Amino acid sequence: MSSPATAVLDADAKAILARCEELYEDLELSAVKAWKAAHPGALAIGYLPTYVPREILHAAGCLPVGVLGAGEQLEIVKGDACFQSYICHFPRSVIELGLSGRLDALDGMIFPSTCDVIRNLSGIWKLSFPGKFARYLDVPQNFDPRIGGRFYRRLLDELHRDLCRLSGREPSAETLWASIAAYDENRRAVRELYELRREEPWRVRASEAYLVLRAGMQLDVHEHTELVRSFLQAVRGRPARAVDDARVVLCGAFCEQPPLGLIRTLERAGCEVVDDDYMLVLRWLGELPRRDGDPLDALSDAYLAYSGETASRYVPDGTAKGERLVQAVRKSRAEGVIFAAPSFCDPALLDRPMLQAVCDREGIAHTALKYAENTGQMQPIREQAGTFADAIKLWGDV
Ligand code: SF4
Repeated sequence: MSSPATAVLDADAKAILARCEELYEDLELSAVKAWKAAHPGALAIGYLPTYVPREILHAAGCLPVGVLGAGEQLEIVKGDACFQSYICHFPRSVIELGLSGRLDALDGMIFPSTCDVIRNLSGIWKLSFPGKFARYLDVPQNFDPRIGGRFYRRLLDELHRDLCRLSGREPSAETLWASIAAYDENRRAVRELYELRREEPWRVRASEAYLVLRAGMQLDVHEHTELVRSFLQAVRGRPARAVDDARVVLCGAFCEQPPLGLIRTLERAGCEVVDDDYMLVLRWLGELPRRDGDPLDALSDAYLAYSGETASRYVPDGTAKGERLVQAVRKSRAEGVIFAAPSFCDPALLDRPMLQAVCDREGIAHTALKYAENTGQMQPIREQAGTFADAIKLWGDV
């Protein structure tokens, strides 16, 4: 039943979503330009998925900006000339965005170690923009604090010092702790959003949550936290009716992000995405367990201790492969898994058979599809996801 109060909250939620959709579609980075105009002399630094320690960029006085490609909005011409045809779409659109001047507001770029394609992309980027700050950021694949931890802490320290030099700030532990606190707060808000999705998915559609998360790629962390909290407040109070769609976990979308149309198509096909692995940068570390001592040690320790799993993170114990996925399915009471990987994404597609075997062993229904960030034709996906949802609901297994 709708009352004037719930109608106001509904309008609030819609207004927030409209703002998020504007940001999602804005390849010109208007919000970043506005931030720079409001902070004269401050720098904006872009980063690619899957994970970068945004706290370090923030502590150096920079605005971290997630560069997630061009979706379906940009025709790729120059980007295609830089890469062979049998790799994913994402690096082409990043280069296209750069060469077309759409990323000119960025004063630098960070390329996290996700796969060989990103490594090559960072090289092409450095050749294309020789005057700009560009960093290929390795992450440890050895999780012993004395080995991988020391290596990673040194990289974090270098990055912090270099960014401070660029922005003209003095490196400071106090500032780093303040940035860590800001991102912890953001991770808490994002976690609440996911909890609500799990408990009452009809209150926040997956596509709405996706838009709210994507806004975090352009907004300052404090502004994004406030936006997530305002959205949560609005959707908790707005009128909503429970629906009985098939609860699914989406897996494989950790790097090239799925187009919004794909998430909406899954919804229309009767699938409620109650957990996923897109927009991982917002959730990677969880909350940092301590607030004292050396902040770079704390960031490094949190990375080593993080128990999440993606194809770009080595799993030392082969038997643990797929554990996170099973946990996500159990925790979210999902009825199935949709393996959704970008076309030609080697890390996701190489992981897939191992994860499918784990699902088979655990009796978890699953189906698999591929997408590209510019996938426009959704009908086949709708039919496949609809059949999957129907099979789950009718027979409880697939
Ligand atoms: S989508 Fe996959 S293959 Fe492409 S850059 Fe990302 S991790 Fe690498």
